[in-house]
Amino acid sequence: MKLKFSILILLSIILTSTFTNCKKDDGTNRIQINLFTIEDDKTLGLQVSDEIAADPLQFPLLDEAKYATAYSHLRRITDNILNNATMKHRNDFLWQTKIIHNDSVLNAFCTPGGYIYVYTGLIKYLDSEDQLAGVLGHEIAHADERHTTEAMTTALGRDLLIKMILGDSSLAGQLTTGLLGLKYGRGSETEADLRSVEYLNKTELDARGVGRFFEKLIASGQADGPQFLSTHPNPDNRVEAITNKWKELGSKVGETFPTRYLEFKNSLPK
Ligand SMILES: [Zn+2]
Repeated sequence: MKLKFSILILLSIILTSTFTNCKKDDGTNRIQINLFTIEDDKTLGLQVSDEIAADPLQFPLLDEAKYATAYSHLRRITDNILNNATMKHRNDFLWQTKIIHNDSVLNAFCTPGGYIYVYTGLIKYLDSEDQLAGVLGHEIAHADERHTTEAMTTALGRDLLIKMILGDSSLAGQLTTGLLGLKYGRGSETEADLRSVEYLNKTELDARGVGRFFEKLIASGQADGPQFLSTHPNPDNRVEAITNKWKELGSKVGETFPTRYLEFKNSLPK
């Protein structure tokens, strides 16, 4: 991996972004600062996606030709979210979707720049389309709200920026590990939950899907265990906040499509 940033570009990023990207988001009243540009998000995402493609042991991607039906189910769900949402970067980012074949992982993630990954373990664990759409809406919100580069600005910013300036080759190959291990803040988590409700509310799906995922984790005694929560810290009263957002948007009871979701699950490798 080579990040070619000149000091001049970095300075211009810092000077332009520090003042334009400060904002308070409506859900959490937190200040967001992001020193990276939209192009940086896209570059980071592409590099992570290349690293994932080059590491089939850790990320065994499900073959698209062999499992075309599964991919068409997944892309119907992500397209539904992306095409109906009030998104900031719908046309800036790539929004590519891939399935990782690992039944023991209950997780999904989305890199900066919109590279979406979902594990077969999560798809099989869930019961209906609104739940998966809710989780994917949450992940899409992390990318669309640029939470990773925001967290990098806060947690790693100075160190990483200095390494970029010095052209440190020790960064090579470490981007995926670094980014996927990066914890989102609770403010980002709340924002991603609420954005998921807003996205799904624009579709025919029930907008409380992400809350149903958390309820299912709690009911099965896994609320503290699964991989999802290791990088997505659990804000207080999460389900309550999701339900309140749904009420605020009009309490529309949407579809859950359990039958076609079962067809999706059945199209995956056994
Ligand atoms: Zn999250």
